Formats: sequence, C-alpha cells, structure tokens
Amino acid sequence: MENKIPYKIYLNEDEIPTQWYNVRADMATKPAPLLNPATGLPLTQQELEPIFCSELCKQELDNDTKWFDIPEEIQDFYKLYRPSPLVRAYFLEKALGTPAKIYYKFEGNNTSGSHKLNSAIAQAYYAKKQGLKGVTTETGAGQWGTALSMACSFFGLDCQVYMVKCSYEQKPFRREVMRTYGAQVTPSPSLTTNVGRKILAEHPDTTGSLGCAISEAVEAAVSQEGYRYVLGSVLNQVLLHQTIIGLEAKAAMDKYGIKPDIVIGCAGGGSNLGGLVSPFIGEKLRGENDYRVIAVEPASCPSFTRGKFAYDFCDTGMICPLAKMYTLGSQFIPSANHAGGLRFHGMSTILSQLYHDGLMEARAVEQTEVFEAATQFARVEGVLPAPESSHAIRVAIDEALKCKETGEEKTILFGLTGTGYFDLYAYEKFNTGKMSDVIPSDSVLEESFAKLPKMK
Ligand SMILES: *Cc1c(COP(=O)(O)O)cnc(C)c1O
Repeated sequence: MENKIPYKIYLNEDEIPTQWYNVRADMATKPAPLLNPATGLPLTQQELEPIFCSELCKQELDNDTKWFDIPEEIQDFYKLYRPSPLVRAYFLEKALGTPAKIYYKFEGNNTSGSHKLNSAIAQAYYAKKQGLKGVTTETGAGQWGTALSMACSFFGLDCQVYMVKCSYEQKPFRREVMRTYGAQVTPSPSLTTNVGRKILAEHPDTTGSLGCAISEAVEAAVSQEGYRYVLGSVLNQVLLHQTIIGLEAKAAMDKYGIKPDIVIGCAGGGSNLGGLVSPFIGEKLRGENDYRVIAVEPASCPSFTRGKFAYDFCDTGMICPLAKMYTLGSQFIPSANHAGGLRFHGMSTILSQLYHDGLMEARAVEQTEVFEAATQFARVEGVLPAPESSHAIRVAIDEALKCKETGEEKTILFGLTGTGYFDLYAYEKFNTGKMSDVIPSDSVLEESFAKLPKMK
C-alpha cells in the first residue's frame, strides 16, 4: 500500500475556497437562456424577482463572471461541516483487486446527510440579507427540505415545505427532522393553495407528485408578502454554490500532486455533478488539461442517455420557465425507484450544453446493480451510502474493474453525495430480493416527447 497518500485528505480551515466558480464564463457555447412560457422570450431579472431573491436572480442569469465571492456568513457556516473529506478508497481498491486508485469526496457529514446544505445555506443567506420573512419549497424524498430547514433556522427565517404526500406518510422521520429545525411541513397536495385545492377536487385520492408540490410552493411564495421560492437543484445558481465540492476536491488533490483521469457523479438535476466537475471541466474548456467526466443516471429516468435536447417545462404543472435541457418530457413520470433524488425528468442547462458539446459522457444503470455496489462499498469502506450516491459508486467500481483487466493504473474520483440512513426501506427491498428494475419503453418515451412544447 502506498504510504504517501493519507486515507483522508482534509484541507485546513483556511484552505477552504472563498469563491464559487462559474463554469459558464469559460464555456464557448453558453447554456440556452430560460424562457418565459407566456412570451417565448428570455427571462429577465425583473421577471424573476417576484419568485427568487434578487441576488440569486443575478447569479442565475450571469454567464460571464468567473468567480463569485462567498459571503463571510456563509463561509462561517461552511466551517461547521466543511471541508468535507476526500477519501482514498484503499479498502475498496483491495477488495476489487484493481490497480486503479479510487478517491471519493464525501458530502454526507452533516445532519441533512447530503451536499444539498451547500446551496441551502447560500439561498437562506441571500433571502435574509434581502430582509425577507421566509421561503417556500417542495421536497420529494426529503433531503432538500431537511437541508433548507437547517439553513433557515440558522438565519432565523420562516421555512414552509410542501412535501409530496406519499413521502410525508412514508418518511415520517425526515418530516420530524424538518419540524425539529422549525420548518412548517405540509403534505402536498393540500388545501392551503388554489392549485392544491383544484388538484384535490379532481383527484381526491392522489398521493401527490413533485410537480404538484412545486406548483403549490411557488403559489405560496408569490401570494405571501415577504416570501420567495427556493429550489434545491437544476438551476444555475445551485450548481454555482455546489462548486465548493469540486474546488475543495481539486485543491486537496493538487496538494498531493494527484490528477484524476476519470471524474464520476450521479445526476438528478445535475447540481452535485456540476459542482464536482466544474473546476475540471473549466481546465478542459481552457485547454489546460483533459479529464473524462461521467454522469450516472438511473435507467428508470434516463434524461441524458435517452432524453431529447429541447426546450421543456421544469415542472409537471407547466407554470415554471422553459429550459433547454436533456429531458424526458415534463409529463414523464418515472417508475417509483428508490433514488428519489434522481427522479427529475430534466437536467441542468449547463450540464446539458456540456454533454451536447461532447465534454461529458453519461451512463444509465439499473437499481439492483446500484444496490449491489452500495452494499459492496458499505462493507469495506464503512459508509452506508445514499441510493443516489450509489449510482456513482456503481460506475466507479465498473471503471476500476476495467483497469483490472487492462492493468491500467487510472485515478478515479467520484462524488459520494450522502448517507442512506433514511433509505432503509430501499435497502430492505434489496436485502429480501424484492427489488426490480423498471425501464421505460421507447413508446412511453415517444408519447412523452410528443407533448414537448412546440417552439417557434
Ligand atoms: C438530491 C440528491 C442527489 C441528486 O441531486 P443533484 O442535484 O443531481 O445533485 C444526489 N444525491 C443525494 C444524496 C441527494 O440528496
């Protein structure tokens, strides 16, 4: 075993990055702008401001500023759980018998259990700075709602979370974490909004959907004085905040002269992947270095590998802006797989453009093989990974096994986005052999693509 590289590489507190990196500034082809569905024209700062905080609107629309200073209050909060460790997976390498060197950046070391806190704290900060009373949001599996409730309690903001009703009932523990941090959690659809009342009148027995919860949260934000809506993925601003992951990882690797050949992350809306890979893609875009970047998505929700690169709505309710992205169609409902955080029909516009331009690869994996990788990883590395994160583990293991065949000593870096303590129902399904893979047929996807908005 090499003795030079420690098991865990921690940056010192004063080495934590103090700026976020905006990869859009280095992109020759910028991501296509968000469009106002009513006018078909690019959304302006003015049109976005009733929904999002001003500073966040600026970050959303800025394709040119390369570095954004991280405000001191956010830097201070980051110190509660950052830097996150970069871990050399020596035990996994040994178990696989691979000459590959495997590293993972672990974002699960905070109470919310995932990377989502990196953006939640930034969004809460800007809302507080603007003098707002509170924010509204939706949550499916509950990771984002949990992160946001922590961030809001830190800044003394009111936090209203619309939680998809079936998750509200099936994941009572996440709900209680949010309430402990002071959030008001409402099962969606609810009677507190017009859109919720309308949906309930039409479908009294519905257990809700993310699209419906988004519609309720947006309505709640715009109809209450001093409230704005916040979102935990997909948006450019979220990807920007998440670059703290990649900047730290790169700084830690640079410290030891390590250069990854392959960088791997799971892709839901694209925020952790975009955050991890931005500094590496930046070097690629500037012609300074080359890396292989792989996005991993569930075969049940394959936006990159089987989606269309087209303008589409970001929500099922078709009230949110149009984004040009790899999409399965806003009306596509993925089967109930166990990686709730990877069930979004679309993808970050930044990553979509990078993928379209050949700067990234993508792979779709089935959930039983994902849980096999999760189990293998847990047993040797100790961490019980989130199902979402385990998608990246699957492909990291596959790449390491290829190295075993060829004898290549590649360096692999992957993002371990979170822990799976609230996903034990999924682990139970796997452990009792009751997990299956549902992959959408071509005809189901074609039907969904037919409903994509017709663009002029
Ligand atoms: C939400 C979530 C994801 C996926 O979201 P991205 O925006 O694609 O990063 C991945 N892993 C975990 C643990 C999550 O909570």
